[in-house]
Amino acid sequence: MHFTNLMCFFRLISIIVISGVIYLLMYQLNSIQDALKLRDNPKININPFWQRDSQRRGESNSATQLKDWHELESIAKEATRKGIGELGQASKLDDPPDPEFHRILSKQNGFNAFLSDQISVNRLLPDIRSLGCKNKKYFANLPSVSIVIPFNNEHFTALVRSLHSLVNRSPPELLREIILVDDYSDRTELKRNLDRYVKAHIPKAKIIRLPQRMGLIAARLAGVDKAVGDVLVFLDAHIEANYNWLPPLLHLIALDKRTVVCPMIDVIDDRTFEYSAQDEGARGAFDWNFDYKRLPLLKSNKNDPTEPYENPIMSGGIFAISREWFWELGAYDDGLEIWGGEQYELSFKIWMCGGRLLDAPCSRVGHIFRNAEWDDVIPGRDDDYVHRNFKRVAEVWMDDYKHYIYNKANGTYEKIDAGNLTKQLELRNKLHCKSFKWFIENVAFDLVKMYPPKGNTDFAFGQVRSVGASNLCLDTLGPPDYSFVGLRECDHDTKFPSRYQDWALSEDHDMRMRGEDYCLRAADLGAQTSFVIIFDCHFGDPNQVWYYNRRTQWLMYSEHEDLCLKAMPENKRVILDACKTNNALFKWTFVHVNNVLLDQYFKTLPNKKKVKIN
Ligand code: UDP
Ligand code: MN
Repeated sequence: MHFTNLMCFFRLISIIVISGVIYLLMYQLNSIQDALKLRDNPKININPFWQRDSQRRGESNSATQLKDWHELESIAKEATRKGIGELGQASKLDDPPDPEFHRILSKQNGFNAFLSDQISVNRLLPDIRSLGCKNKKYFANLPSVSIVIPFNNEHFTALVRSLHSLVNRSPPELLREIILVDDYSDRTELKRNLDRYVKAHIPKAKIIRLPQRMGLIAARLAGVDKAVGDVLVFLDAHIEANYNWLPPLLHLIALDKRTVVCPMIDVIDDRTFEYSAQDEGARGAFDWNFDYKRLPLLKSNKNDPTEPYENPIMSGGIFAISREWFWELGAYDDGLEIWGGEQYELSFKIWMCGGRLLDAPCSRVGHIFRNAEWDDVIPGRDDDYVHRNFKRVAEVWMDDYKHYIYNKANGTYEKIDAGNLTKQLELRNKLHCKSFKWFIENVAFDLVKMYPPKGNTDFAFGQVRSVGASNLCLDTLGPPDYSFVGLRECDHDTKFPSRYQDWALSEDHDMRMRGEDYCLRAADLGAQTSFVIIFDCHFGDPNQVWYYNRRTQWLMYSEHEDLCLKAMPENKRVILDACKTNNALFKWTFVHVNNVLLDQYFKTLPNKKKVKIN
């Protein structure tokens, strides 16, 4: 070869080598940046707890190497499936069971158990993730997982479908074990049959059986006690995991073990088993009755629908948490019984004690939300364990904000003994957890605006029953259209009556359809007797003022007159007439009366008036 040609050749080679090195360096840098993009907290731990173990085991890895975890082969194989319910489509049976059988199954399970039996336990799900999720890479080296699933009398095929979906869609090297905790089910098929099935088809699953019904909190704790994986994933027994659901959760925990992650929860329809998204997602919250509520996504959450976002409160029992961190947080308070309040306790302490809670929208898990027909009774437990749990959580974590919860419940909490809280209070101290005010102002900063912590200031509310005609209730007689109100048979559901029988004697002293702007007043103003009509509420209008005397049980009209509401069962009407003692047709009972507020108001009345109404 000519000498100059040889020089050219070497120069070319060195250019190629140098570019290669630069490319590799850039690639590595990009991977690191990609990995770190998922986190805005600068405190990064690139030698996380689970990698220390793998290094000790001698496995070489680069802490930030990324990989596409999609299992393309099994996705392609699944995609050829055909049959009822496949691809998460709504199913209708050609030969449905008779309605009575259907009703019984529905009552037992809260969903269409008969249809569940017709759908393959390995069914294909639609991939409804944002497109960007399909290109996401996560750490090549991720922590191992113990899945904990408590169950009580779950329907066999729904339970088993949950397990298959987990095995089919979790990378085997990450799925260490599935721990099923049988919370004292009495269905026979959940005993030996399930043992045999699991042994044959789900070898990674083991079953722990509790000696009595202990509820889902204790059942989860019993499962965690036996778990050995780096990360715990809690699930219900009627779920289906979607494609690549696990890596997005584990990646975030690998970055920081104090990050707890929830997947997006999709809906498996309780009647048709159709699989669909709830909505674009939301942030979790609560109102001051401690009912779970949702807050809208923030603008910044919507920039990239594949990015995890901060969530104040987890929705329930579906989340992933580092096992180490779960124990450091004292697990669940073991004084919480059966169910209720546990997601608040854990969410509060995650945030207040130095962690954070994220929703990872690229991880999706379907859940059957049970229907209203479901009848769940816990034998031997008629005590109010839910409010007791709430009180434990409020006492330990909510500081002065607990009073909002207590005030709203009209005395319920005063009667409840929350039990010994020493261990929980010590933990809060030991972990130097922040105040509840910090949580409300920094994490759930829009909660108070969306759910104002106002006590229930109604003097009385709910159904208004006639004493003289005891099965009849005050009723709007249809939608409020400015006409006469009257009497109708009382709705069976006294706690949640229809809006036509749900009244409030409000703090403004009007009698209104509860939560609505329709008020009662005399049809014939100034007359000695008059029918009663429904009208727009006018704050401060003396013709819309009412008073309930809880001693005489009279519902008295207006500040000036001595008129009382009277039932006329013979024509299902009500009229205003001169109040008469010893006449049951003038007597009414409200389902809820706030005695304290009523008595306080009574004290403010002028003496003359007090004499009249007593
Ligand atoms: N569960 C349990 N013991 C109970 C109540 C529930 O083991 O006393 C299980 C139940 O089988 C399910 C999980 O706990 O797997 C969550 O319960 P559920 O689905 O009823 O709660 P929801 O989804 O309505 O919040
Ligand atoms: Mn559930």
